[in-house]
Amino acid sequence: MIEKITAIFQQKFGTQPAFIAQAPGRVNLLGEHVDYNDGFVMPVAIDRATYIAFSPAAGLETCLVAADFDQQARFSSDSIATKTQTDGSQMPEWGLYPAGMCWALSDAGLATPAINAVFSSNVPRGSGLSSSASVEMAFAIAWQQVGGWSLTPMERARLGQRAENQYVGVSCGIMDQFASACGENNRLLFLDCRSLQYHSLPLPENIALVVADTGVRRKLTTGEYNRRHDACTEAVRLLQNHLPAIQALRDVSPEDFNRFSADLPEEVKKRARHIISEVRRTITAIPLLEKSDMAGFGKLMNECHISLRDDYEVSIDELDTMVSIAQGLPGCYGARLTGAGFGGCTINLVERTQAEQFAQLLRQGYQQATGQSPEIYICQASQGAGML
Ligand code: ADP
Ligand code: MG
Repeated sequence: MIEKITAIFQQKFGTQPAFIAQAPGRVNLLGEHVDYNDGFVMPVAIDRATYIAFSPAAGLETCLVAADFDQQARFSSDSIATKTQTDGSQMPEWGLYPAGMCWALSDAGLATPAINAVFSSNVPRGSGLSSSASVEMAFAIAWQQVGGWSLTPMERARLGQRAENQYVGVSCGIMDQFASACGENNRLLFLDCRSLQYHSLPLPENIALVVADTGVRRKLTTGEYNRRHDACTEAVRLLQNHLPAIQALRDVSPEDFNRFSADLPEEVKKRARHIISEVRRTITAIPLLEKSDMAGFGKLMNECHISLRDDYEVSIDELDTMVSIAQGLPGCYGARLTGAGFGGCTINLVERTQAEQFAQLLRQGYQQATGQSPEIYICQASQGAGML
């Protein structure tokens, strides 16, 4: 990857790039759909990343080459506000992510000098491994390098989220940028989505994170997500009759929920039950990870899948099939759908020595059941965004 972008840089700009930055994709192990309920998420940065070869540019114009698309875009601080290039043409869709990062940094008062850059990524796009956040976080590092300022990883993550929300126009939470910015080798991150405080927990080196893509791309789901969101809001409103101090479902214990849930409409009750049980699972997971109890942690992942399937109802047949095959294979501690649902990937916690065999058997099993051959990625928890 680095050789490739260096060679393209040389060819395009006639010199060697001064710097290389990288930022990883991520996968969430536990804490699904809880970010907008002030809960806890447990993502890891993975060993797939966006790499940028870059140098400060002479003039005021930034020139970017997206090697994976064989396209380029040029913008300046003047053209950026209108999402156009310096020649007046529209910014290509991929250009919105780096340009948005540049916009958010400048808007925060940070210098974003013009750069020449070539970038490429081995994070699969649109599979739920956050290729977009990895592009944003890699460019945040690049501008930090040439801008002469320094932000904490969480500050870069928040500006990346702002870029994606307000410039690209995708309403994502903070988790993706956070994991890409703050990842640690062989460790899992624990983020409190209310306070944004976080810490890391050990993930034993003998554990492989196996991501299996069903190949199903979510469709027509915005309405479904909004309904989940509304159900959570409604549950808080109704539960406040008994528990006036609660602000979000994160504040409701499973015990209180059992006492007071009788009043809730059936659908609202199920949605809330997922969130409340999931928050409890993430808290239960901490001591298990501290003592490297992977069987215990895997069991929580399996329970999470059942809860997403039956209570939150965001699974589909393909995800259930992938998960149930995985759970029966040797070396698998736990498996569940990861991400928003209605398609995308499953995450599997697998004994490293058995990961190759696991991937092969999972592929065969899924192919037999569905006729589709899935992409499977064997990953490791990795360092967050930085310079090479
Ligand atoms: P994901 O779940 O992978 O983050 P998104 O839809 O949020 O999916 O982001 C995918 C978009 O991010 C792509 O359509 C593209 O615009 C941008 N992107 C991701 N990877 C690259 C890349 N290697 N080169 C250029 N743009 C990229
Ligand atoms: Mg994304």
